[in-house]
This record gives sequence, C-alpha cells and structure tokens, in this order.
Amino acid sequence: MSNSPIWHPFTQMKTAPPPLKVKRGEGVMLELEDGRQILDCISSWWVTIHGHSHPVLAEALYQQAKQLEHVIFAGFTHEPAEKLATQLLTHLPESLTRVFFTDNGSTAIEAALKMAYQYWYNQGEKQRTRFISFEGGYHGDTVGAMSVGSSSPWWQTFKTLMFATDIVPFPATFDEDSNVATHEAQALDCLAELLQKNSHSYAGIFIEPLVQGAAGMRLCRPQFLQELAKLARTHGVLLIYDEVMTGFGRTGELFACLKSSTCPDILCLSKGLSGGCLPLSVTVATEEIYQAFYSDDIDRAFFHSHSYTGNPLACATGNASLELLTQNPDVFRGMEALHRRYMETWLSGHPKIERTRICGTIAALDLKAESESYLNATGSKLRSRFLELGFLLRPLGNTIYLMPPYCITPTQLESIYEVIRRVVDE
Ligand SMILES: *Cc1c(COP(=O)(O)O)cnc(C)c1O
Repeated sequence: MSNSPIWHPFTQMKTAPPPLKVKRGEGVMLELEDGRQILDCISSWWVTIHGHSHPVLAEALYQQAKQLEHVIFAGFTHEPAEKLATQLLTHLPESLTRVFFTDNGSTAIEAALKMAYQYWYNQGEKQRTRFISFEGGYHGDTVGAMSVGSSSPWWQTFKTLMFATDIVPFPATFDEDSNVATHEAQALDCLAELLQKNSHSYAGIFIEPLVQGAAGMRLCRPQFLQELAKLARTHGVLLIYDEVMTGFGRTGELFACLKSSTCPDILCLSKGLSGGCLPLSVTVATEEIYQAFYSDDIDRAFFHSHSYTGNPLACATGNASLELLTQNPDVFRGMEALHRRYMETWLSGHPKIERTRICGTIAALDLKAESESYLNATGSKLRSRFLELGFLLRPLGNTIYLMPPYCITPTQLESIYEVIRRVVDE
C-alpha cells in the first residue's frame, strides 16, 4: 500500500503497479525520479504534440503569466483568446465562423450537445432531442459525453443516468481491407433508415472523423465522411465532428475535416489545442447556428460556461503551438511515410499481427488472440513489458498503437517498431 493520498484516473488502485514518478520531460523523453528514461510513444494522453517542455511554449506561458493569468470570460475578453479564435478560423472550413471556449475535451462535447439541442429548440423544433453516434465512438467521461459515446463496459454502472442515443455501425478499415466498401454501404443504409423513419426527432450526429481513438485507433475513409455529410445535409440534421484527438496534425493534415474535404456544423477541438500544456478546448460553430441564438431575447442565449473558460495562459500556449505547426507542417505531414516504412520492415505480415493501419502520425495494429480473457490480460502485461524496456505504450485491449510527439526523430520512431517486434516475438 502506498502513502500517497492520490486516487488515480482509470486505475484499479488495489491491483495496479505503483505510479511512476516523473521528474522532467524533454522532447519525446520522460525522466523518472530514479533516473530511468522513458520514450513517450503516445504523447502522454495524446496531447503532447510538440514534445515535452518545449522552450517556445514555455516562453509563451511565462510571458503571459506575467501579463494576465486569468479573467472571467463573460463580459470580458483578452488578446490571447481573440488571437487564437481568429487564427484557428483561418485554418478551418470557411463556413465555421464562431468559436466557443471550454476547458477540456468532454466539456467541448457537452457544449456541442447543448448547442445542437438548443439550436433546434430556439427555432421551435422542440421535438429534435435525439442524437445519433457510431459504434465504438468515444467522446469523454462526463454524463452527456458518455451518453453519445458507444457503451463501454465501464459505463454499465451509470446506464440509468445516461440518455438514449441511436448507434450506427462504424466502417472500420485497415491495410488491404477488401470489405471496406460493403461496410461503408451498410453503415450508410442503417443511418439513412433511421433518418427517414424519424427525420424530425434528431438534433445531430456525433462522429470522430477519420480515426476513432479510444475504440482502438479504428480508421474510416474520407469517402465515408463525404457520404455521411451528404446524408446529414439531405435530412437537415447537424453534423458534429469530435476532433478532440484528430485535431492539430494528428491525421497528417491540420484537421480531419480538411483531410476528408468535409465540413461539419459543429467542431470540437481540445487535446493538441494548447500544444499539450494546459487544459483548453473550443466548440466551433457555423454562422447559421450562432444566428439561432443571436436575439433580443435573453432566453435564446447559450447559458453555458466553465470557471476556466478561455484561460489566457492556455490560449497563449495555444497561439504559440499553432505557430509552430503552421511554420513547419512537414513534421506531421511526413510521419505517415515513416510509419509505413517501419511497419513494413518490422511488423507487416508477422503471424501474430493483423489489421495494420496508419493515418498520418497515428499507426496501429491488432494482436491475434484466441479468447476475450486472453485479450483483457494482454493489454496491461504488454504495457508493463514496454515500460521495462523504456517505452510508454498503452495498448487498448489487443491493439498496440503509436501516436508520438511530432519532434520524434526517424531513429527514435524506428526504435519503437523494433521494440514492438521484440515484445510480440516474446
Ligand atoms: C480524449 C477525448 C475526449 C475527451 O477529452 P477529455 O479532455 O479527456 O475530457 C473526447 N473525444 C475524443 C475523441 C477524445 O479522444
């Protein structure tokens, strides 16, 4: 038993190994208190896009902290937020024009949920109260976000707290998948049927575009998103993109909506927004949505906020991070080719590996396994073994994935593939 009073997230405190104490981070490396070096292959919890303790972000944070650390965001504004909102919009599809600040991924989703719901309510369409989402979707751990997520075994406890959502299949694909077109057609048929049957009861459709993260880095093709967007438009239902994880270069383009040439009505961003330094998120909306709230009537306003909404320190690192990204887009655009090369050299065709897949800076593969119970035990065993060898990897079930900071060198990236090969062979 440990003396620490800390109750860790996503952890069975009784059986989990004691947490590793981190002293410092630099680039892709974490240094533990005992001097061990760990290569962060997953950007911590998918946030550290530029690497740890980046000097440019640290400087931006320091300068802002001397100027203004925080201020109430109702009735007040500040330059870091104004600049970030304006700059963000220059990189997003033109039809997205309004930026609502929140403070983490889940709250960006909660804001999107309430925004979509009230958008219809304000226009007298009060029966539009339902949402559609995708099998395997993950949108956060707060109650609203869980409700539009796909049922996870950990959420069964809270089933009666959650509201009902209609779930459609997600056409997950991988290298040399010959059934992808069939799976896409099935998903679209299922969606079209729901929309036709109850077209006036839906407020919106939630999806993680191109990559479902927590479900195990499941990819879908841009074509699928294009068809989905068409269907949503035809039936007049709002399309809501959860780009909390896919945003800021992860998919090889700055945003998944750009990579897929699609445009949602509402877009949620968080993880990479502050460059991985501080909690921050935005829910970005079209002018049409904004106008449904814009009124002389106070009741039509969007009554939603958080204490740390639009925090200036987080916005300042966000501005610095966006500059780093736009000055050097090769760091995220070039990683897919490296992933492909190393995947082929070390892992493709291995008898214990299947469904390799790559999207931009993200690469994943599944371990073949005979039974469910074997799978459940595998994840934590693999995690411990990788840590012993100096690599932070957190398999999701039997899925091993890489999502490194963009500053990783080709040699460091290849070393991750080598170590996965070694552990799989064991
Ligand atoms: C992480 C994540 C969230 C939740 O973000 P938090 O900041 O952890 O609340 C929502 N959606 C997606 C796709 C995510 O990856």
